[in-house]
Amino acid sequence: MNVGIIGGGVIGTSSAYHLAERGHEVTLLERDEIGSGTTAASMAVFVWQSVPPSEFALRLRRRAWDEYSEFVESGELDYTRTGLCHVAWTESTLAAYREYAEELAAAGVDAAVRPGAGPYDDDRAVGTLHTPEDGHFDPVAVAELYADKAREEGATVRTGTTVTGVLTDSNSVVGLELGDDEIAADAVVNAAGPWVQDAGPVGDGTLPLRRTAGPIVGFETDEAVEVPFSLFENDLYVRGYSNGVYVGHYNTQYRESQDANPDATDTPGDEFEHRARVLLTRLGFDGDELRRDTSWTGYRTVTPDGLPIVGEGAVENYYLAVGMSGLGVTLAPVVGESVADAIDGESSPFLREMSPERFD
Ligand SMILES: Cc1cc2nc3c(=O)[nH]c(=O)nc-3n(C[C@H](O)[C@H](O)[C@H](O)COP(=O)(O)OP(=O)(O)OC[C@H]3O[C@@H](n4cnc5c(N)ncnc54)[C@H](O)[C@@H]3O)c2cc1C
Repeated sequence: MNVGIIGGGVIGTSSAYHLAERGHEVTLLERDEIGSGTTAASMAVFVWQSVPPSEFALRLRRRAWDEYSEFVESGELDYTRTGLCHVAWTESTLAAYREYAEELAAAGVDAAVRPGAGPYDDDRAVGTLHTPEDGHFDPVAVAELYADKAREEGATVRTGTTVTGVLTDSNSVVGLELGDDEIAADAVVNAAGPWVQDAGPVGDGTLPLRRTAGPIVGFETDEAVEVPFSLFENDLYVRGYSNGVYVGHYNTQYRESQDANPDATDTPGDEFEHRARVLLTRLGFDGDELRRDTSWTGYRTVTPDGLPIVGEGAVENYYLAVGMSGLGVTLAPVVGESVADAIDGESSPFLREMSPERFD
């Protein structure tokens, strides 16, 4: 089949690779550079924990890791294993984490509850749910790797090319409009991330998707910070990087009333920086040593059940691969594979659970 893909983030590029590998004729269209959208804004942590745990969430992660681990072992992709901590500030949260640790361990995930706050001096902490296998990638490197692999399999990757419309005939896809130009396509994959609804006339405005803002501030520190990716009860998280430490806001709850504008260019303001500094100081960082180094806001696309939407949309041969709910880097391999399954007409438990039809 001749497949056009809208969007060159981790999801569009993984889809391109999986489709091209199966012999489809693929054209990926990215209006900017590969990985320049939400992907570039990502912390790119491969998250083994699903909190609360679910068998399906774990199956998705295992399938994704099967592919990532091959890229890591072959030296094609760097993976920085740091572990992941959920730090509990209250006994009720800690009791829930104990249950989660048991469930995760029973399912074969290396998970345990430990006293205190991991490596931090957080006197509020009553314990931590820890999974040591989690770590992070360079998110743009993931998208670039998939784009390279797609090209090796014969795909065409066009950057600097905006899709302005999806062409249909008798309620079936026939091509893509690129401004004054057009290309023919037997199938289209909309992998436009938070811009899914603007990417063409059948960018289905009825889907239950919301965009949430994810501000991040990076503070330069005198010494390298080696800490696990850590989430706290106020929805802030901490991740180390080469210059210092990032603090971000983890916001993946679908709320009817909220929908952020992914084209907003605001950087996190003083209030967010203050919250970040208060957290780091409580964790034992010396506030005087923290210099604001970098900051940005990325936009997650969230669904009511926290699972992606992958499958055929309202128009025949028009496929959606959106709503990653803050886990697009973790899930990119299995989402790309599922897109290829959907186009090949194969059924899979992954496709069943991620189907857009679940919201009918
Ligand atoms: C702050 C933050 C932190 C995150 N941390 C993590 C994490 O630790 N772990 C994890 O697994 N996930 C994380 N995520 C989520 C993850 O980054 C996303 O789910 C993932 O990057 C989404 O990829 P995508 O390909 O769907 O979207 P995008 O990367 O946004 O790609 C969509 C692409 O479509 C292009 N496009 C849009 N419209 C058009 C058009 N009309 N024509 C052509 N091209 C178009 C855009 O330019 C863009 O490049 C985080 C997200 C944020 C915001």
